[in-house]
Order: sequence, then C-alpha cells, then structure tokens
Amino acid sequence: MQQCFFLFYPSQAPRLPKAGETIRGHKFFIGFGGKGANQCIQAARLGVKTAMICKVWKRLEVFNQNFVWQTSDAATGAASITVNDAGENAIVIVAGANMRLGEEELQQALTAIRKAKVLVCQLEISSQTSLRALQMAHDNKVRTIFNPAPAVPDLDFGFYRVSDVFCCNESEAELLTGYSVNNVEDAHHAAQELLRRGCTAVIITLGPQGCVVLKAQDKTSTHVPSTAVKAVDTTGAGDSFIGALAFYLAHHPDMPLEEMARRANQVAAVSVQAVGTQTSFPFKRDLPADLF
Ligand code: ATP
Repeated sequence: MQQCFFLFYPSQAPRLPKAGETIRGHKFFIGFGGKGANQCIQAARLGVKTAMICKVWKRLEVFNQNFVWQTSDAATGAASITVNDAGENAIVIVAGANMRLGEEELQQALTAIRKAKVLVCQLEISSQTSLRALQMAHDNKVRTIFNPAPAVPDLDFGFYRVSDVFCCNESEAELLTGYSVNNVEDAHHAAQELLRRGCTAVIITLGPQGCVVLKAQDKTSTHVPSTAVKAVDTTGAGDSFIGALAFYLAHHPDMPLEEMARRANQVAAVSVQAVGTQTSFPFKRDLPADLF
C-alpha cells in the first residue's frame, strides 16, 4: 500500500525562464506521478496486488479503488516542471489534496492495512499522516518501508522506530544525518547513523553505484553494486527501486535484504534505460526470470 498522487505538467524549453519572462517551449505533456503512485506502479508491474491510500480532487476520475478519497477543498497534487536543453529542471510542487489525507481515512483503511504484507510511505502527504500509517502497520506486524522524500532536516525520530527498511538516496541521507554523502564509504557512515536512530534496516541508494544495505543485526554495511548500463533518463529510478523492493518484501519475505537490493538494483537499472518515469518502469515480462 502506498500514498500520494500527483499530476505532472512537464514542459521542455531551450532554457529555464527568468522571473517575469515568457518563453516558447518545444514540448508539453501531462503525466501521472507522485512517489507513492510511482512506487505502487512498479510493484504492481512486477506482479503483486497493490493499493494506494491517497486523496485527489473530486472530479479526477483516474482511480476506481477503495482507498482513493476525493475532496472538493483542494486540487489534486500537481507538479509544474520545466526542463531545459541541458536536462536541468525547475519544479514547483503543490501537494494539494494529498495534504488532506488524515486520521479519518487511515481508520477507514485500517482493515486493509492489517491484511497487507508491506506498507510503503513517503513524505508527499503530511508527515503526521505518514507516521500514523507506519505506526498502524508496525503495530499490526505489517512490514514497512519508509522513503523520507522529499527529505526534511528535522524528521521526527518516531519514523525510524517504525521503519523496517528506511530507504533514502544520497542527498536525503546527507540532509538527515548532516554527513556529506558522496561515495560508498560516506554512505556506510551515514547508514550507521540512521540505524542508530532506531530502524531495523537502512538502504541508501547511490545512483549508478547501486546501494548500501545495513541491518540492525549486522555490525557492518554491505555495498550492493548496480549493473553498468547506458542511462538515458534516471528520473524515477529511486521509485522503481523502492517499488521493486516492496515487491520482494511481499513476495519473498524471507529473502536476505541484500539479495532484495541486488534484484531491485537490476529492476531500477532497466528503468534508467528508457525515457520518462512510470513509462520507463519494467513489467515482469521485460525482466529475466531469475529475478522472480
Ligand atoms: P530519482 O530521484 O531520480 O528517482 P534517486 O536519487 O531517488 O532517483 P538513485 O540513487 O539515483 O535514486 O537511484 C536509485 C537506484 O536506481 C540505484 O540504487 C540503482 O539501482 C539505480 N540506478 C540509478 N541510476 C543508475 C544508473 N545510471 N545505472 C544503473 N542503475 C542506476
């Protein structure tokens, strides 16, 4: 089960506009996203049953699921993105209806949360609601993955205690720990610090270098390298990785976390070889059988 849904409005333009300026762009499209939705899509494409717990504007008819609530008080979360010819971007995110998801909706979803094998949360809904959902899952022995993104420097320590897997990227690890995280060695140190805060395991993703995995029962962390591929668009690689990780946690609960991470690296490495976010996420049929 995952949270947060956004509509994405990306424009491609020769350069980013300055304040007050209007420029002509090359291309515009509307896409679906939000970390929760992306991670949910990736897990589903690998073959597990998934559900989203989220809130959208009442006229949006993209879902027919039990845990997608609607509100007339706020628009569906939206991200306006401009990408220049150098691949740099400027993004404005308005969380909108996502922020209206609260305790009442979580209580209505409680029966389903109890039955789930894995609950994945991010920070694109209110942090209070995310923490509450993780607590509910944790209290009911449902395994939890917490992806502290977008990261906040003063993250409530309660998040660590309810995270079976605390999974973040380098910049999030840096913001949370105050350590600089530029390489595998740095990631080992940051993972130790995050683990000390109370989670059961930590994964720090490192782009083309794969990830570092540290479990509470182990003294040292393990570097799990990724496959060398020709990346064309890495947007959403982290969501592909987490969606795959959720799949393995649900589908092979007894598999060592390092092996889950090795396989999630492979899934995410496929995603970076195609353009887009959800559009680049592989299906089970696109992947080698030994990943399942
Ligand atoms: P994004 O914000 O773009 O979604 P992220 O910063 O959250 O990504 P990364 O650490 O960049 O996440 O990447 C997540 C995973 O994707 C990595 O652990 C790795 O498995 C895979 N990956 C990313 N970039 C590459 C690459 N260039 N080659 C191979 N695998 C990659």
